[in-house]
Amino acid sequence: MDELTFTSVSELAQAIRAGKVGPVEATRAYLDRIARLDPTLHAYITVDADGALAAAAVLEREAAAGAWRGPLHGVPLAHKDLFLIPGLPTSCGTRTPDYLVGAPPCTAVTRLQAAGALTLGKLNMTELALGPFGDNAHHGDVQNPWRIGHVSGGSSSGSGAAVAAGLAAGALGTDTGGSIRQPAALCGCVGLKPTYGRVSRYGLVAFASSLDQVGPFSKNVRDTATLLNVISGHDQRDSTSVNQPVPDYAKALDGNIKGLRLGLPKEHMIGGLDPEVKAAVDAAVKQLESLGAAVEEISLPHTEDAAATYYSIAPAEASANLARFDGIRYCARVDGADPIELYRNTRGAGFGPEVKRRIILGTYVLSSGYYDAYYLRAQKVRTLIRQDFLNAYKEVDALITPTSPIPAFKIGEKSDPLAMYLCDIYTIGVNLAGLPGVSVPCGFTQGGLPIGLQLIGQPFQEANLLAIAHAYESAHEWSRKTPYL
Ligand code: GLN
Repeated sequence: MDELTFTSVSELAQAIRAGKVGPVEATRAYLDRIARLDPTLHAYITVDADGALAAAAVLEREAAAGAWRGPLHGVPLAHKDLFLIPGLPTSCGTRTPDYLVGAPPCTAVTRLQAAGALTLGKLNMTELALGPFGDNAHHGDVQNPWRIGHVSGGSSSGSGAAVAAGLAAGALGTDTGGSIRQPAALCGCVGLKPTYGRVSRYGLVAFASSLDQVGPFSKNVRDTATLLNVISGHDQRDSTSVNQPVPDYAKALDGNIKGLRLGLPKEHMIGGLDPEVKAAVDAAVKQLESLGAAVEEISLPHTEDAAATYYSIAPAEASANLARFDGIRYCARVDGADPIELYRNTRGAGFGPEVKRRIILGTYVLSSGYYDAYYLRAQKVRTLIRQDFLNAYKEVDALITPTSPIPAFKIGEKSDPLAMYLCDIYTIGVNLAGLPGVSVPCGFTQGGLPIGLQLIGQPFQEANLLAIAHAYESAHEWSRKTPYL
């Protein structure tokens, strides 16, 4: 049964098509494993065993009648608890389990279900997606499946841990500054942040609307391509989703990267980079060269401004987006003698310390005396950061960087907010520039913790990006390793 839960999305879908495995059997295998391991891992906030089994029974009857919904018929997935899925509560990782109820369904999950996938439940996350570590005071800190007691990376911590631990065949997460790529790196799976506008954000609780993107977690690059094919495309309910054709991403994985030019940003391989992470990325560069790619050093001159820029813009947008959680229409109300006290009580009780810090920071940079000095300036630097990437793409086809400067560390070991923000140094520029980025496993530390390699592509060139990632993945065993639990 456990073996079934480590089958890839594509292989499981094929096995179901061939009648070798039934959707109910697959769903039960996952639910058994969740029941056994999740009390330790805390990857899930809500497990919908009854709903998943009922959906599996319907899919099984359809399969028996030869009525196939699509490429994911009968495949059990799970999604970050930031996506609105009818019938299931959405906590956004806050202490209130039903922070939002009765909301319209999220487009990306609806598309997966239309392709035949079923939903096992909703996954744990950093509170309101603000933070890179995956800790959660309300639903339990998500544990790294490779070493209990270590962080899983965040904010889509449950998505990374669930896929790595065989608690879901694949998962959706969101990435505003690295929240798909970081947990994928720290948990040893593949995580893709698509180009801004590639996937609809409708039915997703917003953190920073100009940066947020929805993307898949999976065990390998082929699965990423399969899931991306299903969730991509224009959605008239999200005005930022782009009306561009969706290529067949799975078809693009032809394995040949001969002659491709890859850039290694010289500003990225210095500073606080962990030596084991550096060694793994250096080895990955050599491997890509041996596969026929030409790797050259390039410059992203505004790299050192990325953190200050991101930590001005993202909190500004978060403070605006979170203003609606005031106890009137959204989130659990804590009453007060008058409306002001009601707001104060509700927001005081409803948000954890990091969320409050971001709201204060964001409100400050947007306030009238400081708007020009901080917010407006950050927007100008954002343009320079994007231009750095576009200049680099005149020389090279894609970029290679580490995903995270450090591997997973002990939960609670880092509490300084500034040190926490600097963990995002390789991922946030990609969001500021609206580009696609993928994290693929590229090795392990001596202590057995996964290391991730980030590949950054040109706008809407996910097919090329996945082709490089797939060629690299096919050349070694990293993605086939599973944690012993
Ligand atoms: N780590 C980043 C932050 O704390 C990104 C979070 C995210 O992508 N949701 O803001």
